Amino acid sequence: MYRNFYRLMRFAVNYRRELRLMDYLREFERNQWLSAEELRQVSWQKLKQLLEHAYVNVPFYQQRFQEVGLTPADIQTEVDFLRLPLLTKEDINKHTDSLMATNYDERQLKRDVTSGSTGVPLVLFRERDHDIIDVAAFTRYRRWFGCEPGDKIAWIWGRRGDISGVTLAQRLKRERWLDGYRPTPDKLQQYAEMLLKWKPTIIAGYGNVIYIFAEYLRSQNITGIQPKVVETTGMTIWPHERETIAQVFQCPVSDRYGSHEAGAMIAGECPEHSKHIFSDFCYVEVLADERPAEPGQMGEVIITPLYTFGMPLIRYRMADIAILADKPCSCGRGLPVLDKLVGRTTSIFTLPSGKLLYGGIFRHIVLKDTLAIRQFRVHQSDKNQIEVFLQPGKGFDETIVSQVKQRCLAVLEGEPVNLTITVTDDIPITAAGKFLVTTSDVPVSFN
Ligand SMILES: [Zn+2]
Repeated sequence: MYRNFYRLMRFAVNYRRELRLMDYLREFERNQWLSAEELRQVSWQKLKQLLEHAYVNVPFYQQRFQEVGLTPADIQTEVDFLRLPLLTKEDINKHTDSLMATNYDERQLKRDVTSGSTGVPLVLFRERDHDIIDVAAFTRYRRWFGCEPGDKIAWIWGRRGDISGVTLAQRLKRERWLDGYRPTPDKLQQYAEMLLKWKPTIIAGYGNVIYIFAEYLRSQNITGIQPKVVETTGMTIWPHERETIAQVFQCPVSDRYGSHEAGAMIAGECPEHSKHIFSDFCYVEVLADERPAEPGQMGEVIITPLYTFGMPLIRYRMADIAILADKPCSCGRGLPVLDKLVGRTTSIFTLPSGKLLYGGIFRHIVLKDTLAIRQFRVHQSDKNQIEVFLQPGKGFDETIVSQVKQRCLAVLEGEPVNLTITVTDDIPITAAGKFLVTTSDVPVSFN
């Protein structure tokens, strides 16, 4: 009922936008049932369009193509495409202006500083209407679990600005934002009571925080929060965490792999538990030693979002590690399948008082808007010891250090933690790999 009202309302607000959305959605819906080969073609055609656009309109790519002696016409196969150099976060920050398409007016683009999930803050420009295509991609994914736009979503998320009170837009969109940064028992209790009454269709958010919430509900014998699906994102969840979430919420758990850089989706897990790459939305390569990895072989994820024309990101290094599956999914969708996504972890920090803190808070709050930091890492070695490592970038000075310290202390809210800040050009790598930005050696305890 509300779904219909919601659609009608969106139509009334902007019917042109709504028609475009429907077009995209129809296409996405159709694409997913194509064969793997047909989908490869669809994806390739979109990629070719983007390359041609970038070659004609984006100074950075004109130069890149020139440097390697290529034109888009030379790129006929996936192997040819390997000849274009990879794009790093540093490239983006260094060449922000020349990465913008000259046929786009500044007013058509929106500036966005992302928190940098791998420890490098990033400035991006995106078309103002890009969210239409994001919504279409999300909608295809959520329909896999019987969900539609207008269904109630509870986000267990972090950005502070998003969680203060319920805005009118959130009411109309039927979204609720719960603070995933500080999952204290008091807050979890509040959320439990709210969600029991409100009955969300989808619970979405950081996988490990949703797991903590599920553990809390179980410890308090609270039952009855039963969405259609729990959508986890932001990091890989462990099998026991997934099992607990599925048992407590009595519904499927679907892991979504997305990123600010890609837009809504890189991959999403279907009801048959395959992580389907949204290859008609984002071109994904998995590379081992700069060559396409074999199915089953571990490789680095490289993405090319296919609908970002204002500031194209071509062969962008995600700094994630994945393995491609060697078999198609039994659900019948032709979208390729990621067998595993590894090396994506954001720890939960356990503070001296026993309070839990989602590690991502350091990315979103402590390091926000600070481009003078090239890279960072936050590590908790024991309950009382947190070390912050900063690699200086352009414009770095002592005031940045004291700002970071202030922000960390604010986040720690008076906990007796020995906080050290080390400025270094050589950030130590963890045993688990270089992609772990916020890590804690302290096991999470619920007592
Ligand atoms: Zn499937």
